[in-house]
Amino acid sequence: MNERVSTGISRLDMCLGGGIETGIITEIYGEAGSGKTNFCLFMAINLAKNGTVIYIDSEGVSSDRIAQITVDQSTLSNIKFFRVRSYDEQLETVTKIANLSQAIPDIRMIIFDTITAHYRAERDKRAELRKRYGNTLTYQIEMLNNLAMNLIIPVIIVNQVYTEKDSSNVLPVGGSGLAHMAKAILKIERTGSGRRDIVVIKHRSLPEQKRCSFTITEKGIE
Ligand code: ATP
Ligand code: MG
Repeated sequence: MNERVSTGISRLDMCLGGGIETGIITEIYGEAGSGKTNFCLFMAINLAKNGTVIYIDSEGVSSDRIAQITVDQSTLSNIKFFRVRSYDEQLETVTKIANLSQAIPDIRMIIFDTITAHYRAERDKRAELRKRYGNTLTYQIEMLNNLAMNLIIPVIIVNQVYTEKDSSNVLPVGGSGLAHMAKAILKIERTGSGRRDIVVIKHRSLPEQKRCSFTITEKGIE
């Protein structure tokens, strides 16, 4: 069986077949405010109690929210935040992490929240970057996939959504590249005030459309 890493909530772990799989990319997508960052932060903080978590942040994670969830300063210092402010910086940061990964001790997980934010915002620059480096989003995803395989850790890539024309379907941004590379795809849906479902969209050993519920609370998620 592929090893799993705990989400920090045993009920969710059981529902997800043991947790988040190591060695692969798990894509998490959902509407604005669906709870993607809450889920990632909660998992990061739990894993950081016993090792290093790399958190690439393109959207500005709230330090107030971290303070609400975190238990102690030494745990927090085990999360290495890489703030990326542009698509250029994003490419540089992923490359740097790939090059540094052997030197960073005890990496338990890498989270990229959100890989498509700058990609979406900087359409013009994207064309220019593609001329220089080829398809740079795919290149980043490939680097992250190699890190997942080589370090035998889970890599979580958070993605935004758009609403499909002529229907109300909510789909992840960024084309099929990530959908192919991510061996697990989870969607987060609002089901009520603070209440959320993780819906299995693609998984190697769980049925499609399986739902696992959680609630966003003051202290994190439960
Ligand atoms: P985006 O796409 O905009 O980044 P997201 O999917 O990452 O959104 P989150 O930021 O994880 O969404 O979740 C936002 C939700 O978390 C909001 O509905 C908010 O009310 C809830 N939330 C934040 N702090 C608390 C808290 N202290 N207690 C309860 N709920 C909270
Ligand atoms: Mg977010």
